[in-house]
Amino acid sequence: MVRVTPTDRRTALRAGAGLVAAGAFAPACAAPDTAGRTASSSHTSPAPATPTAARAPTRAAPAPRAFPGRPAQIGHGPRDRPRVALTFHGQGDPALARALLTEAERHGARVTVLAVGTWLDEHPELARRVLDGGHDLGNHTHRHIDVNALPEAAARDEITRCAERLRRLTGSIGTWFRPSRAARATPLVERLARAAGYPHVLSYDVDSRDFTSPGGPAVARQVLGEVRNGSVVSLHFGYPDTLAALPVVLEELGRRGLHAVTTTELLS
Ligand SMILES: [Zn+2]
Repeated sequence: MVRVTPTDRRTALRAGAGLVAAGAFAPACAAPDTAGRTASSSHTSPAPATPTAARAPTRAAPAPRAFPGRPAQIGHGPRDRPRVALTFHGQGDPALARALLTEAERHGARVTVLAVGTWLDEHPELARRVLDGGHDLGNHTHRHIDVNALPEAAARDEITRCAERLRRLTGSIGTWFRPSRAARATPLVERLARAAGYPHVLSYDVDSRDFTSPGGPAVARQVLGEVRNGSVVSLHFGYPDTLAALPVVLEELGRRGLHAVTTTELLS
């Protein structure tokens, strides 16, 4: 395992900040690929190791963990404890992403962000923002194409390129992997994720369908109609309806005594 020093991470942050990846909007996790997106194929070359002015060194982020007794693909946590995990597709407008994180934190909630690699190239500072808020950060493939439909080498590349970015930015490949454009991984993608260092694939049991932009109240109704002990809820950065729904969801979860925790905490 490569150890990443704080200096390396700072360097990587600057390198990432200079990259401009194509594809500015956020397609949904499981939605059909309707957009003619041009994928960024930039291979990041290491930036020169010039030291920067003082910035507190940061610890490496947590690594993935194996949860014995849990399936290879995790769709929910224990049903006998009043906790749920709100999990976000990490892509789209960074201001919206920050607003969602801040809103979650205002309610004492912690969430899980599955970051798309090209999004990290465009907004490398968001990796640390997620971790600094006490949230889980994970891998949601490099370009968010249909990873289950790719041949083996290309699917492996989608997983490892996002993992490399996370490692450069945070010192860890992230605690979770979730496939792009599918709720569950094929056996091949599951195996590739395990080989890349993720013992489990993170699926979900509640689909907010926020990516269909049905309005904030509809997103809140959908989530609150299905959520229960142990639920893993699929949500998205990049959609204003999600931000409109989040306070309603969090307040009602609070009334029901359901705590919104990171996925790691949900399963621990
Ligand atoms: Zn997604």
